[in-house]
Formats: sequence, C-alpha cells, structure tokens
Amino acid sequence: MLSVALIAHDQMKPEMINFALQYKDILSKCKITATGTTGTLIEEHTGLQVEKVLSGPLGGDQQIGSRISCQRVDVVIFLRDPLSAQPHEPDISALLRICDVHNIPVATNRKTADVLISYIQNHLE
Ligand code: PGA
Repeated sequence: MLSVALIAHDQMKPEMINFALQYKDILSKCKITATGTTGTLIEEHTGLQVEKVLSGPLGGDQQIGSRISCQRVDVVIFLRDPLSAQPHEPDISALLRICDVHNIPVATNRKTADVLISYIQNHLE
C-alpha cells in the first residue's frame, strides 16, 4: 500500500483539511501518517484513518524523516507556512533534505500537492 505522510504548519492546516477532503477517496486507499495535530484534524474532518506521530515541534518531523530514510514513506505532502518562523526549523530542513536524499516526491504547497495526487493515483496497487 502506498504510504503518504501529511504535515501542515498551523496557518496551513485549513488548507490541509481542504486537500484531504477533496481527495478523500484516493487517500483512503493509502496508508496515511501525519504529525500529531495535523493527523488529529484530518481524522476529525474527514474520517480518514491516520497513524499519528508526535507533533512537529516535539519531534514529529524527525520521526517522519526517519521513516523516509527507512524507505517507509512514498510521498510527502508538507504544507509549510513560508511567512512565520517555526521553532523547529532545523527539523523541517532536515525532513526536506532526507526527501531529496532518497528521491521521495515532496510537495510544500497546495498546487504541487494537487499535482502529486496524480502520482499517487498512478502508484495505487
Ligand atoms: P503538527 O506538526 O501537525 O503537530 O502541528 C506540524 C509541524 O509543525 O511540523
């Protein structure tokens, strides 16, 4: 099953909920992992089943990064807030770096996330 990681900074959480609602049917065929707060909101608003790691500032980004290094994540949708400083910026940079190291597709804004949905559809088993 395709493994998709979902992360959204606070200002981007409404956008992530909108994304998850729009593509609920496709995402329901994937294994979804998310950082704590993002995952809880997605579950509440969509009914999708989400495996939640820690909240981003508590290490959730690093947990997802570790899964990427172990080839356990196929796609990352990371809706970043480019306008607010994040206390865990080093973890965010590390997560994006590890995606590049392992050639994992990662979207950092909504339009790229929409584009990656076709990739996900093409790779569903
Ligand atoms: P959150 O973490 O989903 O727990 O808010 C996201 C982040 O800030 O990396």
